[in-house]
Amino acid sequence: MMNKQRNLLVVSGPSGAGKDTVVGRMMERHPEIEISVSATTRAPRQGEQDGVNYYYMTNEQFEQKIEQCEMLEYVKYCDKYYGTPKSEVDKRLDAGIPVVLVIEVIGAGNIKKMYPESTLVFVAPPSMEELRSRLCGRGTETPEKIECRMKRAQEEMQYADAYDFQVVNDSIDECAEEIYAILKKRRSE
Ligand code: 5GP
Repeated sequence: MMNKQRNLLVVSGPSGAGKDTVVGRMMERHPEIEISVSATTRAPRQGEQDGVNYYYMTNEQFEQKIEQCEMLEYVKYCDKYYGTPKSEVDKRLDAGIPVVLVIEVIGAGNIKKMYPESTLVFVAPPSMEELRSRLCGRGTETPEKIECRMKRAQEEMQYADAYDFQVVNDSIDECAEEIYAILKKRRSE
């Protein structure tokens, strides 16, 4: 029988590398894949919706979830909490539904320890200059936040080698198909 953990795909990459866009495109084309919605204490960006992009929480609410062991993994990233609720993952894996987690590198490493058969894909930006221009172009971050994300991006790039696969996002469509092909192959192994 197929190992259920092989339905678990973890996608990471520095903020601004376009991983959310790429994963969004993959899901448009392959609607059988479901996404895990994370919890966070950061404020919603314009256009983001509670329960769709994230479950937005206060520090108290998030810490309560940690205490109640409802988080599969969580980290502090640029001073805010981010975490994967258990309820987003386990029921889907039990039902044999492919689920994708878009999370940073520490969380990804923790998931791989818990689910050794999961697949970790690292999405790299074409270059660090391109990354900076994407972060600035987004227009949602203050200069301090951009610096924090650039610093974190440099650190995150060091983890790329620990991933099962690495893809470079110079074309959204191609990158989305590349990731889908990885998942498909993995599920059939
Ligand atoms: P952003 O604020 O740009 O939405 O996310 C910041 C970083 O946190 C991104 O690298 C994103 O992938 C990561 N992230 C989002 N949700 C989670 C989560 O549940 N767990 C972990 N470990 N990282 C997350």
